[in-house]
Amino acid sequence: MDTIPLVHASLGAAELAAVADAFSSGWPAGQGPRGKALETQLTERYRVGGAVAVSNCGAALHLALLALDVQPGDEVIVADYTFPAPAHAVRYVDAVPIFADVRADTGTIDPQSVADLIGPRTVGVIAVDTVGLPADYAALTSIADRHGLFLVEDAACAVGATYQGREAGALAPVACLSFHGRKGITSGEGGALLTTDPVIAAHARLRSSFGIESIFDQAKVVGLPIPVFTEIGYNYKLSDIAAAILLVQLGRVGELLDRRRAVAAHYAELFADEELVTLPYVPQDRTHAWQSYMVKLDPSVDRARVAADLRAQGIGCGHGTWACHLQPVYETKQRCPVSADLFARQLAIPMHAELGTDQVERVAKSLRAALRAAIKQ
Ligand SMILES: *Cc1c(COP(=O)(O)O)cnc(C)c1O
Repeated sequence: MDTIPLVHASLGAAELAAVADAFSSGWPAGQGPRGKALETQLTERYRVGGAVAVSNCGAALHLALLALDVQPGDEVIVADYTFPAPAHAVRYVDAVPIFADVRADTGTIDPQSVADLIGPRTVGVIAVDTVGLPADYAALTSIADRHGLFLVEDAACAVGATYQGREAGALAPVACLSFHGRKGITSGEGGALLTTDPVIAAHARLRSSFGIESIFDQAKVVGLPIPVFTEIGYNYKLSDIAAAILLVQLGRVGELLDRRRAVAAHYAELFADEELVTLPYVPQDRTHAWQSYMVKLDPSVDRARVAADLRAQGIGCGHGTWACHLQPVYETKQRCPVSADLFARQLAIPMHAELGTDQVERVAKSLRAALRAAIKQ
């Protein structure tokens, strides 16, 4: 019996050839020619003031909060239903994450919840494009503007998605992308910070390389250039090997997303009359990047049993993503009931660009049977 993995990274011959080129270039490290080419392409694609290629999205979020001058003790409102990178980034700068509940239908941050949580120490908001679906940026932008808060878009999962005709990754003044192996385009690990403000980009780039300007650039200076350290920066650079892979992957966004879209449409058709699951909802004004495909199980269904059943048949599945406020590390007393409910009931089923029609059909058939076998007594 074939196994059907939950996720699969679409990396092939073109990416391998690009890696071979990077090897022969003699510059495998970060901030080299490929990293620069990637930053240029990102700047053009997103029509932003600057793009910084970094080692991962967590690093991009950290750099964003540093550039936005978040201070210890400041409060930053974060989306609750997500991989917890935003709240972690808030803690990296000794600020306090305040968890905002999400919309039940989309799983994205609820603007009303954000408005309710704003207090005297609030400095900004990190919205998340939940598993690839953009949040409500019109409402979020107006709240942020009204209260003088910064707005960061965590578009880790959302490359290729759109909101009111605009690209996810350009929906807030600062946005962060992930190129982790489980995202829509990937270099294994990788990320980028995008911003309308070139000053923020320069700030982040300097702190992504230990607080000195590009060693690659300095090496081209005639004589004996000695870089000067002006900041206590980090090493968050993206290697040129990874950048080479991403230059190929960026050209494939449309193709890979079309295939994920076809899988989502097929699932929607196959589950249309299935009363034991609620399918993902995509509002009219946005499109989904389908980083994951999550269905919400009816409360009568034992999710762990469904998952065990699917796995026994070689079908990958997972819990989806996290309700951050329930993670013990944050020691919060906040409650986000909608997020907690999604955390308890969602089930992620196989979603990637290389799923075949027959595989999608097998997943649907097995899930329907598993749901019926897992009704709680
Ligand atoms: C995956 C993910 C991240 C982390 O990305 P890395 O590149 O692995 O650091 C951040 N935010 C969200 C919403 C994610 O899904």
